[in-house]
Amino acid sequence: MKNIVKLALSFVGLFIFSVLHAQDAKMNTFINQLMAKMTLEEKLGQLNLPSSGDFVTGAAASSDIAKKIEAGKVGGLFNIKSVAKIKEVQKLAVEKSRLKIPLMFGMDVIHGYETVFPIPLGMSATWDMPLIERSARIAANEASSDGINWTFSPMVDISRDPRWGRISEGNGEDPYLGGQIAKAMIKGYQGNDLSKNNTLLACVKHYALYGAAEAGRDYGTTDMSRVRMFNEYMLPYKAAVDAGVGSVMASFNEIDGLPAHGNKWLLTDVLKKQWGFKGMVVSDYTGINEMIAHGVGDLKTVSALSMNAGLDMDMVGEGFLTTLGASLKEKKVTLARIDEACRKILEAKYKLGLFEDPYRYIDENRAKTEVFSAANRKEARTIAAQSFVLLKNANNTLPLKKSGAIALIGPLADNKENMGGTWSVAANLSKATSLLQAFKETIGDKVAIHYAKGSNLDADAKFEERAGMFGKSLKRDNRTDDQLLNEALDAAAKSDVIVVAAGESAEMSGEASSRSNLDIPGIQKNLIKALLKTGKPVVLVLFTGRPLTLTWENEYVPAILNVWFPGSEGPYAIADVLFGDVNPSGKLSATFPQNVGQVPLFYNHKNTGRPLRGPWFQKFQSNYLDVSNDPLYPFGYGLSYTNFNYSDLVLSSNKAKGNQSVTASVTLTNKGSYEGKEVVQLYIRDIVGSITRPVSELKGFQKISLKPGESTKVSFTITPEDLKFYNYDLKYDWEAGDFEIMIGTNAQTVKKATINWSK
Ligand code: BGC
Repeated sequence: MKNIVKLALSFVGLFIFSVLHAQDAKMNTFINQLMAKMTLEEKLGQLNLPSSGDFVTGAAASSDIAKKIEAGKVGGLFNIKSVAKIKEVQKLAVEKSRLKIPLMFGMDVIHGYETVFPIPLGMSATWDMPLIERSARIAANEASSDGINWTFSPMVDISRDPRWGRISEGNGEDPYLGGQIAKAMIKGYQGNDLSKNNTLLACVKHYALYGAAEAGRDYGTTDMSRVRMFNEYMLPYKAAVDAGVGSVMASFNEIDGLPAHGNKWLLTDVLKKQWGFKGMVVSDYTGINEMIAHGVGDLKTVSALSMNAGLDMDMVGEGFLTTLGASLKEKKVTLARIDEACRKILEAKYKLGLFEDPYRYIDENRAKTEVFSAANRKEARTIAAQSFVLLKNANNTLPLKKSGAIALIGPLADNKENMGGTWSVAANLSKATSLLQAFKETIGDKVAIHYAKGSNLDADAKFEERAGMFGKSLKRDNRTDDQLLNEALDAAAKSDVIVVAAGESAEMSGEASSRSNLDIPGIQKNLIKALLKTGKPVVLVLFTGRPLTLTWENEYVPAILNVWFPGSEGPYAIADVLFGDVNPSGKLSATFPQNVGQVPLFYNHKNTGRPLRGPWFQKFQSNYLDVSNDPLYPFGYGLSYTNFNYSDLVLSSNKAKGNQSVTASVTLTNKGSYEGKEVVQLYIRDIVGSITRPVSELKGFQKISLKPGESTKVSFTITPEDLKFYNYDLKYDWEAGDFEIMIGTNAQTVKKATINWSK
């Protein structure tokens, strides 16, 4: 019987293989025939990806870009919004250009389209892969309804430095979690069949190591050992490639002294040869040209360098378009390599189904019904609530009662523009909702709400301007600090409890928004201090795009709910959580330090030869004079309105050999009075290795829902796959020895057992 099943399965496998093979052969024939007709200029045209600028419908056809499209000098366009405009330019390509090659349309659909989900760092705090996939599916459905077929997402750069503003756009510090999220997002965007009209070609970025910028300053240099690269930073990019991502974006930084855009080892040897990536590689915005400032050569030199390194498409810079012809004549690049790059772009278009129907993603009716739909907004509200991390809840301050009077105070309490966070380019800010509005709509009939702004975002008006770009104004109030504070104290006096909506504005994180100070702006801290003096319970609803230093807040504010930037429906979700309709379950994917001096601070560090043994401080051990090594909140941390109890960890065996598997289990019990979800986390430590190994590495997690009093056994199967790492020779394998297995509620609070694994 078994053999019959095996035989049947191999026939199915063979059948799928032959179908795929036949599809590939069909595509190759089509592209071969098309490329045989193309001039060099037309091939270079396909490699060109300009930004649309700000087209006005009706004027697109007479723009400068229109002339280039007609001349076959454009392969795709990005950041053009609306199905009407996209139709107009696609028409030019397929009616006016000689070979009628359709354009592809890209956009930074990073965390939703018009229905905006929490910023990626917030999404990662859900630790919920089906939910993350669902958010990407909705984003793909909305964007593709509006004519887009390519998104510059997922961004999977590992970052251990909260000074770096783009930590908000990624999944935090852990390579395993980052890899899982990369897979879920790509599945959500690309689905199983890219040619369907509701899918997007995904683009993993920024390859590679962009999140390790020196001093956390954007676009900064990175420099690290290959061992660290492969064990700690590369995994999410590779996971994306393994998941079938259609495109990869190069990163702005240099690696080993050579910018990623011109780094052949990175783009060809590792990505294309070692990992077998078959899709196209696109530059970041003027990333090729920026190699001039890096000091690698003039435009012609850097464009040839980039082409030879394996980069296929030039975003905005036009170095490929304008210089590769000359470089070809001078034999600085080969026609074979230009052909290969052109083929990659044509293949992407073919897979998107654009040759079959260039208007496949252009459907005015879909755009009207599917974008920002009630159903999508409802899901976004549910998803946002899952991303919130309860950082502190002394004396069960939360949830709040739906009665009495509440003071809603803070510079972010009545600001709808900032709720979506950074990189929400398609969002319609006029359709957003403020927290005050959401409070009124959800609990306004039961609770008296007394609103006051309380303070501006920052004392420095110039800083506030920098922190309020792209229409995300903070609506600076010109009254004096005292006037604002007194109004807040009046509101507090009339209320039973104070909710303060404070923290960062949306554009205090994101691209080129690095910070050297990770505190809440001082003026907001003063406001919180004054409100605490009233003696009434204070709840801090914290908006942030990064881990902040909250040592003072953690000491004095009774309850802190971190809501990141929760998206277009986030304010409703905040009300859902504050008033107990949803129990928070988010867990941090990035460590919150006690102070900036501890940065970079991350859970999966090495032990050193002189680890701190015993309590802080110990002379001649690895610690600081002025602060302990502990984070304020560790990786994986997050509270709930209920309490979970972990039993001791039980291993199915404390010895294993070769490819055997072992089960590690705990019994999880909900000891509190609310139904709740807990992310149970599995960590492993390889105690002795041929190279030093981290003190702990995340290897699995499960999100478990339990009713009050309920218990369940949570088990993880461990195999030698979970023990593998890149050794000194960069060989990926596991080594025999003792391993510490840990299961717990965060990276620091775990149950432990040891196993010996022999070869
Ligand atoms: C960013 C990319 C983005 C691109 C296009 C760049 O500045 O680094 O992440 O995809 O712009 O908007």
